[in-house]
Amino acid sequence: MKRREATQLLLASAVASRASLASAAPSVSASLPDVAVVGAGSFGAWTAHALRRQGHRVTLIDAYGPGNSRATSGDESRIIRMSYGSKGVYTGWAKESLVEWQRLSERSRQPVFENTGALAIGARGGEYLLSSEKFMRQEGIRFEWLDHAEIARRYPQFGLAPEEIGLYEPDSGALRARRGIQLLVAELQASGTAYRNERIRPPAPGAGRLDAIVTESGEKISAGAYVFACGPWLARLFPDLLGGALRTPRAEVYYFGSAAGDPQFKAGHFPAWFDVASPSMDAYGVPDLDERGMKIGTDAYDEPTDPDAQERTPTPKYLEATRAYMKKRFPRFAGAPVLEARVCQYENTPTENYLLDRHPRIDNLWLAGGGSGHGFKNGPAVGRYVADLLRGEQANPLFTFAALHAPAKA
Ligand SMILES: Cc1cc2nc3c(=O)[nH]c(=O)nc-3n(C[C@H](O)[C@H](O)[C@H](O)COP(=O)(O)OP(=O)(O)OC[C@H]3O[C@@H](n4cnc5c(N)ncnc54)[C@H](O)[C@@H]3O)c2cc1C
Repeated sequence: MKRREATQLLLASAVASRASLASAAPSVSASLPDVAVVGAGSFGAWTAHALRRQGHRVTLIDAYGPGNSRATSGDESRIIRMSYGSKGVYTGWAKESLVEWQRLSERSRQPVFENTGALAIGARGGEYLLSSEKFMRQEGIRFEWLDHAEIARRYPQFGLAPEEIGLYEPDSGALRARRGIQLLVAELQASGTAYRNERIRPPAPGAGRLDAIVTESGEKISAGAYVFACGPWLARLFPDLLGGALRTPRAEVYYFGSAAGDPQFKAGHFPAWFDVASPSMDAYGVPDLDERGMKIGTDAYDEPTDPDAQERTPTPKYLEATRAYMKKRFPRFAGAPVLEARVCQYENTPTENYLLDRHPRIDNLWLAGGGSGHGFKNGPAVGRYVADLLRGEQANPLFTFAALHAPAKA
């Protein structure tokens, strides 16, 4: 985003109250290294935010722009939920992150976070729901168990089998994804973070320290430290480290329209939801925000794709898979028309844990990626964690290169 565009966004959205900008702009410390953060998706933008808060001078660089339509953070919405099955570390991170998304909403006076509630649907006694309960209890997160009859009473939109129940989080909901990232980057720019719209070339696979990164046009950008938060592009930038370990399957999500005057799928009438009735997550959805329609995504896709060049045109076979799912879960809605669709891609690690680690051979370079279909919400905690790593704090083994292929134990 050019500085002028950023300023316009700030003005248009009434973000720039003097007080909020002052609080977002701590003074830069001469003793801390300048940091270049490559990638302005959820991981990179929040890393820039955390580094800036700690007093670093930061340059944020993105090839296509914050929240662009190729980026994994570029859709209209993402769910923020605290239930994470046995991966309890993310329950804590989601709790921490929710506060930051709420603060961004308050500072920008824009509803980046929409408190729709979040409902996990699964089989009674299922391991995912029980583990989620355990970790939410530990974190002091509010939740309610809803039995089949109670879900049918509150949300008759769902078609459920008698043995299916729900774990409801009243304080969770949905994030306006693209908008949130653009507001955050605009805020960063307004508070002194430099932003560049450039593509960075893959760093030479040497060892020691990196002196500079190089733009596609050949310009060098020097900093004391570098963070590459390039989502599905990371494997191309670091093929020696990540080739084969980071998969980028294509995904399609659809926005379906209700009948005229029918509010049943709008925020306030319907929660963000995800379906864990089968061992892996089957599908998830976001209520109708901003009159775009109710969003549904299913996790049935596995074709690797090219985030630069893939056509973002929805394909019949994915729509058929989504409609087949709707017949089961939303029988009365199964014929609803598609209003919009987004074609995206994941950046999955084998363990579905994030990769947040120092480059094994380059001392002043860190990688942040591997969001694995659940990273957006946790951008604020990821940013804080990466900034702590740069300060020398100890790494959690879960997010290291060494753990990329290890069995998940979060
Ligand atoms: C269909 C789908 C549904 C999802 N649902 C959810 C959800 O409900 N909740 C949730 O929390 N998460 C969800 N996720 C996951 C989440 O969206 C991602 O984990 C997260 O957005 C990843 O953010 P990122 O910053 O790592 O990557 P990205 O958002 O892809 O950002 C990377 C950025 O790097 C830039 N870049 C790349 N290469 C270069 C280069 N060489 N030079 C400069 N810039 C470069 C790109 O332009 C891009 O802007 C979902 C993902 C998908 C695909």
